[in-house]
Amino acid sequence: MRRSLVAGNWKMHGSGATITGLLHSLVQALGNEQDGAEVVVCPPAPYLSLCQQMLQGRAIAVGAQNVHAQASGAFTGDVSAAMLAEFGVRYVIAGHSERRRYAGETDAEVAQKCEAALLAGIAPIVCVGETLEEREAGRADAVVARQLGAVLDHCEGEALGRLVVAYEPVWAIGTGRTAEPEQAQAMHAFIRRVLCDASAALAETVRILYGGSVMAENAAQLFAQQDIDGGLVGGASLKPEEFISICKSVGRQWKPW
Ligand code: PEP
Repeated sequence: MRRSLVAGNWKMHGSGATITGLLHSLVQALGNEQDGAEVVVCPPAPYLSLCQQMLQGRAIAVGAQNVHAQASGAFTGDVSAAMLAEFGVRYVIAGHSERRRYAGETDAEVAQKCEAALLAGIAPIVCVGETLEEREAGRADAVVARQLGAVLDHCEGEALGRLVVAYEPVWAIGTGRTAEPEQAQAMHAFIRRVLCDASAALAETVRILYGGSVMAENAAQLFAQQDIDGGLVGGASLKPEEFISICKSVGRQWKPW
């Protein structure tokens, strides 16, 4: 059984003042919500500590947007998984399409980042998803299988059960164009089959989130799908009312496989 999860990816937005305000609203609405979906916020790195302090003892976890694959070393500007763990970070986004595109992250690097996170006790949220061109060429399944396969081949052991997969079709991110619920469900079911090919236990426990222009108005329909266990939310997670409404519309669901 899998508990629903909603993660807000704040990308490179906000300031101390706006993030404090956003957290106040979230804490008020969701901070004591033991019966709802698991909620995670992923601020820009300089605000991780602020979030961790303001969310201590609350039912909202802190996630990072990136991590380096190595434990330490001469990697100027990077942050290790152990450093994140020391600041109470419980999740980390790995392989977001923006990092694959702008930072040139490869499948192999994303897999190494997932491994580093798992070793530090942090759950990686690995992003997979095809571009519009790949979908139109009938290659969506192959692209997603390749991206996920790199992680499943590289990471081993029980810890892999803490992996979270976010299916984020690139054409739906920040575009206002959301995948149809049935279209998203079809890919989520495919991802679960890929997980099952690796291990039935993984298919049972790994949560698969949908990401790509999730909004309050389309969240309930998406999350009603059998294999959609929650969402990775970008733009809408910066608007407190919108994000709270998305979290509430997911609610606490336990889906069997
Ligand atoms: C994202 O960046 O992970 C995302 C899904 O963005 P948006 O919700 O704005 O499409």
